[in-house]
Order: sequence, then C-alpha cells, then structure tokens
Amino acid sequence: MTRDLSKDNRFLSINTATVRAWDLKQAVEGIARAGIPALSVWRDKLQAVGVAEAARLIRRHRLAVSGLCRGGMFTGEGRGGLAKALEDNRRAVDEAASIAAACLVVVAGGLAPASRDIADARQIVREGLAELLPYARAAGVALAIEPLHPMYAADRACINTLAQANELCEALGEGIGVAVDVYHVWWDPNLANEIARAGKGRRILAFHICDWLVPTTDLLLDRGMMGDGVIDIRAIRALVEAAGYGGFCEVEIFSKNNWWKRPPEEALATAVERYRTVC
Ligand code: ZN
Repeated sequence: MTRDLSKDNRFLSINTATVRAWDLKQAVEGIARAGIPALSVWRDKLQAVGVAEAARLIRRHRLAVSGLCRGGMFTGEGRGGLAKALEDNRRAVDEAASIAAACLVVVAGGLAPASRDIADARQIVREGLAELLPYARAAGVALAIEPLHPMYAADRACINTLAQANELCEALGEGIGVAVDVYHVWWDPNLANEIARAGKGRRILAFHICDWLVPTTDLLLDRGMMGDGVIDIRAIRALVEAAGYGGFCEVEIFSKNNWWKRPPEEALATAVERYRTVC
C-alpha cells in the first residue's frame, strides 16, 4: 500500500472517536492508509486490543500519538472515591507512557453524586491533580486539562474555562498544561487572552477540532465536521500557533446521527479535505 503522506497533513491527527466503528487496529491502519501522521486514542479501544499490542501497531505504522483520552473524573464518587479515581488515573498515565502519547487528556469530573457544591467538586479536582502529578512527571507523561463547555459542569467537568485550567496549571507547576478544544472554548470572551496566557507558560499540549452545529440536537454526540458549524477554527488555530503551539490538530467528532452512521473512510476523507480548506 503506497502512503500518500502529503505535507498538507503534517499536523493532522484523528481521534479514534471520529472513526468509532473501527477497533484500534482498523483505526491505525485506516489512518495510516489515509496519509495522516497521528492519532489520539481512547482507553476503551486501547484496552480492547491490549496496551502492548496497541503500542506495537502504532509503532509499526509510524503514527504519532497526540493524546490518550482520558484521565480525570476525580469527582465521580465524591471525595471518598478519590483514591480509587487516582488508581485508575495512574493506570491511564502508564498507558499513555506505553504508547508514547504526547499527553494524557484530563477531564475533571462533574459534581459528586447528590451534591450541589460545585466549589467542592473543583477542590476535589485540584487535590486529585496535585496527587497525580508527581506520578505523571516520573512517567514522563504530561497532563492536559481539557476545560469542557459549561453545559457539562454537572456530569463531566467542573473545569469549564481556559482561565480555570490556567489557574490550576500555574498553581500546580511543571508537567501539566491544557488541551484547547474549539468545541468547548469557542464562545469564551477571554479566549485570546487565555490562550496567550497558556502559551506563555508553554502549556498548550493539545488542540482539538470539530464544529458547533446550529441547532445542536444532542449535548454530547452531535458535534459537527469542521466547516459545518459556526466556529472560526482558523482564527482559534492562529491563536494557539501564535502562542507557540506547534503540535497536531486533532479531529474529535462525536456524531451519533451523522458521521458515526457513515463509513469511517468517509469521515476521514472529509476530515482531510476540511482540514485543508477551513482549518
Ligand atoms: Zn477534546
């Protein structure tokens, strides 16, 4: 199989969620076949083939790994469950190291069960990150806090802005940064300042792209292909690059009613085309 690794795709990465119907082996092969130099891996796909085999597959196809999704979820069982969450996070760090992922993406977790105390949830996240960080540093794995759009504050992530993520990073020191996902941050009036702030600390570890559809019909699983929505992706990319980010643009599309119903090859081909034309 000839490999058309066009220079144009040099900074393109595909998150396995975008090609959800494929297992990891199929995803690695499909992404390499499309001339795309990198992917980002979800842990369930990784564990399904086994970490060692995944590492072999990725190496054999000479793909870079822009991230492992995901660690975090520190609050799922409240403060009492933090030790258990940390155990899983340490496993995630080990997995990220095994596949040489550029970072472990960290999604904070939302409110603890039956809680109305979002300040406390944020405190638990801070404690969890502080405890995980030395382990991640020792493993050589950077933690990338991904602030999520505020609509997920209750059930997925109580870290909702880049400002919050930057504050955490600045408090916690080396080895931790941010994942800038256009879907989550495009609306933020402080976006330019906060991207610059993250860049000053060399803390931009990942850049995720997709689009915000109008209307959005599912809070989680209706992300659009770049160019089909309202996000000025090119402008945000220019901000992260001006801030010193030189890594991959990772296409991360959860799309229950559209892209997940189509063949993954079609999603890939469209992502490549849109990456070139609108990103
Ligand atoms: Zn993302």
